[in-house]
Formats: sequence, structure tokens, C-alpha cells
Amino acid sequence: MNLAVWLERTAAVAGERPALLHGETVVADYATFHARASALAAALGRDGVKPGDRVALFMKNCPDYLVALYGIWIAGAAAAPINAKLHAKEAAWIIENAGAKIVFVTPDPGAALAEATDAEPIDISTDRFLAITDGPGRVAEPRTPDDLAWLFYTSGTTGHPKGVRITHGMLMATSLSYLADVDTVSADDAALYAAPMSHGAGIYAPVHVLGGARHLCPKSGGFDADEVLDLSEDSGPTSMFMAPTMVRRLTDRAKATGRRGDGIRTVVYGGGPMYRADIEEAVDWFGPKFIQIYGQGECPMAISALSRADVADRAHPRWRERLVSVGRAQSVVEIRIGDPDGNALTPGEIGEIMVKGLPVMPGYWENAEASQKTLRDGWLMTGDVGTLDADGYLTLQDRSKDVIISGGTNIYPREVEEALLTHDGVHEVSVIGRPSTEWGEDVVAFVVPAPGAAFDPAALDAHCLARIARFKRPKAYFEIRELPKNNYGKVLKTALRKILEERT
Ligand code: AMP
Repeated sequence: MNLAVWLERTAAVAGERPALLHGETVVADYATFHARASALAAALGRDGVKPGDRVALFMKNCPDYLVALYGIWIAGAAAAPINAKLHAKEAAWIIENAGAKIVFVTPDPGAALAEATDAEPIDISTDRFLAITDGPGRVAEPRTPDDLAWLFYTSGTTGHPKGVRITHGMLMATSLSYLADVDTVSADDAALYAAPMSHGAGIYAPVHVLGGARHLCPKSGGFDADEVLDLSEDSGPTSMFMAPTMVRRLTDRAKATGRRGDGIRTVVYGGGPMYRADIEEAVDWFGPKFIQIYGQGECPMAISALSRADVADRAHPRWRERLVSVGRAQSVVEIRIGDPDGNALTPGEIGEIMVKGLPVMPGYWENAEASQKTLRDGWLMTGDVGTLDADGYLTLQDRSKDVIISGGTNIYPREVEEALLTHDGVHEVSVIGRPSTEWGEDVVAFVVPAPGAAFDPAALDAHCLARIARFKRPKAYFEIRELPKNNYGKVLKTALRKILEERT
């Protein structure tokens, strides 16, 4: 079944309901959303796009993102959404790798693309786009669960990104799992696209189409904490996906302006490690609105979930311990902690997180070598390291390449970072290993001091001594104004290692 059938059905029974909003303005009801997407699908067909072909999207968040996405699916083609913050050359590489002949763009960042690629850009702000979404429509091309729906280019902190093959079946599994394990969706709800639609926020579009919810695209086309607070207040009950750094910024801003996030029903957070101090502060300020998910492009949004109650229930004896976990396996997957050969370890033992189930990818796009390394006997080798407890709660350590081995002992940077973040003078911190002739590696910390706070390594050392084992304490502290991050807000430890080389 084609995933776009959910749009056909919602449009058939609730065509008059508001579907797409730009800021607070309704720009399409469900009937119009469907009519425009299906007209676009027909136009793509006339342009020679065949089922299975790829069509790229290099767009900021906007309502027409969804018109283009569903148009591509109705045509039976697959979308290759590209992060709007990428350089035109990086986007051109992805377009070429995906073999896309057409790319939908917003003027920013699309204008820079023209010289970088041979693919035909179609600007959604032009009359041409209006015309091709205004013609006669068509029904959705029949698709099987194994057919490609989305080429998801991993953020890749090094080298070229890899295209994860996300199928119609995987997106349906992720959507149904959202309803089973994450949250409910009703026609009164609004899905706010605060995070890039090319990533997790877009993966959650289908479940909100299925539920007939409103799709709210901020006018800024990106993340702006004030805008999120304003829009939710006016449009609630509002749900959104956020990376942990966005939650941090939202809390800071809300506290500074005395706003409690009225209208926000749910913030699903994930995509990177959330520090305990940050989520505690967010729940203290906003209330029980937070649910965590753990996923990766290779199993989109659907590995584990930490429920609203688990995040907020302070009375539970294991609340603190669970708060730093990523929750339990979502309904559609099995999780195993594996030794280097992939054999299952017992609860409490640390190993690679392996995942099997309906939302796991069949492989990367035209990269058999990487697919073979990542998929073993149907298990996805996530490259993440963690432990499962006896109740099935999964806790992530650091990615294997980030683990610091000092004097033969593994030190997980996250644990040191968590300890440092409880110090008032620390705004952000990232911990890495520094080559050491004596120990193999030493622990060092890069610290962004809190506004107005002095950078005081001696105080930080005393703080660590009171909280974590001596051997885990950073041997050196470096002050830094801003941590290097990729486009999704993940700290680039490779870049930090370079900065360290330069400074020492
Ligand atoms: P991507 O494929 O770009 O979405 O990146 C996925 C990676 O982000 C995972 O393999 C994890 O390392 C990390 N990640 C995702 N969700 C979480 C989470 N809830 N907590 C910690 N790390 C996460």
C-alpha cells in the first residue's frame, strides 16, 4: 500500500478540515492539500518521472514541503529530502547520488543550487509550481511495503552522507508505533514543524495526516523559540519534535520571558543525547509535556521511547535512573545488546545496540559495502553503545568511537559531561580524549561558561571529585565560546579534536 493513501482517505472524510498552515494562516484544507499533491503527481508523470524514480527536495520548512512530498509519493516516486542548511555543493552531491532529475526548492537555499547541479530545480514560490499543483489529479500509484519512499541522507559527521532506503512499509511501521508507544493524534491537534522536515519532523508527517491534524509551519522556516511559543499558544494542542539543543533553547527563552508554553501538548525529543539537568529543568518549567524517542535514519524514530510518565513521574523510585535512559523498545522492534560478534549480552553489560523489526532499513542506497557492515543477519548494527536493564530500559553510552580509553579503562564522555552540567557555571560542555603517552588517552573538557560566570577549572575539578570516580575527571579544561555542531545541533567531536590539536 502507498503511504499517500492515508492522505486520500483523510481528504475524503474530512476534506473541509484545516490541513496546512503557514504561521497562523490556513493555506489549505485537506481536500485542497490532496488535490494539489495529486495534481503535482500527475504533472511529475507527464514530466517523465516514473514509479521508483527519485525526486529531491532542497527546501526550508513550509506548507508546500508536504504538497511536494505527497505529490512525489502519489506518483509512486521516492523523495530525497536534503537538509536546507547544507551547502549547495553538498546538496548537489546528494542529488547526483540519488539520481534525481528534478529538485523542488525554496528560493533560499535553492537559488544557490542552479549552478551546482544539472537537475531541474522547481521553485515552489513561482507561478510554475502553482500551475502544476492546480491541474487534474490522479490516484496514488500502487506501492508495496518494500518500495522506496524516502532516501534519508544521514547527517554523517565525517565523509559523504549515506542514503538510507526508507520504504513505505517502514514509514507505516514508524507511524503506527508512534500511536502505540509515543503519543495519540487527533484532528484537534496541530503538528508544529520546529525541526527540519528533511529529518525526524518530516518522518512524523504521515501519522498526523492519518489523524487529520493540522500541519503548522513556522514562517521563519526554522527554529525560533519565541515563534514556537507564540504559535503553540494560538494554535494548541500542539505537538512537535525537537532535538535536545532546541529543548534547551526553548526552556531558556521561556524562562527569560516568563512563558509556560501554553498550548504545547507534547514535545518529542531525541536525535541526540539529552542531559538530565536539561530535561529536569524543562519538565519543572513546562510540566509533563516531554516524551523521548531514540532512533536513527536506519530505523527512523522507532527504536525506543521513554514515555511521558517515565519522564515526569518523580515519585517513581527509579525515576532518575530512567530519565537518563532512552526508554523501552518500541512495539515494532526487538533490541539486543551485542558483543563484537553480535551475540546477545545479559542485562547490565555494555555492548553495541542492535535492532531488528519492521522499521529497519533494507540497506543503503547503492552502497553494498556499507549495507553489509551495518546489517547482520537481519540485525541493524546501530554503532551506538549501551546497556539494557532487567526491565528493558535502554541506556546509551557514547558512540564507540567517542569512548575514551585511559589506562585500559573505558570512560564514557557522557557521564563526565552530565556531572559537569550540574555545575552552575557551565552552560555547555563536551568531553573528548587527548592522546597521552602514559595513559593512552587523557580526559579533557571543553566548557562554554554560563552567561556571566567565570571559567574556573579548579572549581570544576572539585565539582567532579565530589561526583564521579577520580580517574574520570578531566585532566584539562578548555574554555570555548561555542561548541562546533553539525546542522542538526550535534556536537562535532572530530572538530573538537582538531581544536585541541591546535591549542596544545
Ligand atoms: P541520525 O541518523 O542522523 O538521526 O542520527 C542518529 C543517531 O543520533 C543515533 O545513532 C544516536 O547516536 C543519536 N540519537 C538519536 N536519538 C537519541 C537519543 N534519544 N538519545 C541519544 N542519542 C540519540
